[in-house]
Amino acid sequence: MSIAFISHSDCGRHDTGWGHPEHVGRLRAIPRALRNDPELYEAVTHLEGRHATPEELGLVHDPTYVAQVRRMAAGGGGRLDADTVVSEGSWDAATAGAGCVLDGVDMAFDGRATRTFAAVRPPGHHAIRDRAMGFCLFGNVALAAHYARRRHGAERVLIVDWDVHHGNGTQALVERDPAIRFVSMHQWPWYPGTGAADDRGPHRSIWNVPLPAALPPQRYVDALERAVDAATADGWTPDLVLVSAGFDSLAGDPLGGFTLELEHVDHLTRALVQRATTWCAGRLVSALEGGYAPERLGQACVTHLRALL
Ligand SMILES: [Zn+2]
Repeated sequence: MSIAFISHSDCGRHDTGWGHPEHVGRLRAIPRALRNDPELYEAVTHLEGRHATPEELGLVHDPTYVAQVRRMAAGGGGRLDADTVVSEGSWDAATAGAGCVLDGVDMAFDGRATRTFAAVRPPGHHAIRDRAMGFCLFGNVALAAHYARRRHGAERVLIVDWDVHHGNGTQALVERDPAIRFVSMHQWPWYPGTGAADDRGPHRSIWNVPLPAALPPQRYVDALERAVDAATADGWTPDLVLVSAGFDSLAGDPLGGFTLELEHVDHLTRALVQRATTWCAGRLVSALEGGYAPERLGQACVTHLRALL
């Protein structure tokens, strides 16, 4: 069985400036941390992903919006919302980010890699159908869920999001398809202000777990595991598990107040791997979302990868 670490050099071309929390140094910290663990480095398959096509992005995004991002990048860049900038390289970065996650899905279904961690940026879980939001241009994980349904005939897809912020974009992009279930744990109240527990979506296929900052870490771990079990309690077993791996839920992150440590990343990852093994031959694709303390992010990704293995 093979575990893939997938990324793309173009993800480094989304230039937000060093003053922006979502800067390119985040991504650079990951291979650096991985090289400090030679055994793990050797054990995973290193791949460069592809770019998602505009047609693929059209599975979840308005073609007019996709064209707007492309045009803005080609024109040298600009700003899509208060927090979300586009640079000349952002189109190539964002399509590579989405493409890496789609490659992970392809490999999970064709057997090349049962599990994949996609180290990508910009992140994706705040982007909605026709608009960028909160550092995110395209909804990488929501797109991967619809792609798995369309391309690989997946009948049920589970998305688990432990980023400290609510995956409002993911929810918006999947809640109309009851075959995709979404579990999101996030700080409350916090950006972007959505994700109340009673917001279950039109098909009750959404499990939001809003929690206050600064709880003992085990409380977050238990709450997320309970929500995953609730989402699958009726014998509903996914054909694929997708993870929005946001490491801004770790203690000390400048953009969040959760208290997770590396041991909790390890535990949550193993808990999902174990369930995926029971449900769907272990098929799991994890994509990086937030995480704004670069050194810490690198360590968390190494822990996450080791647990995937
Ligand atoms: Zn976040």
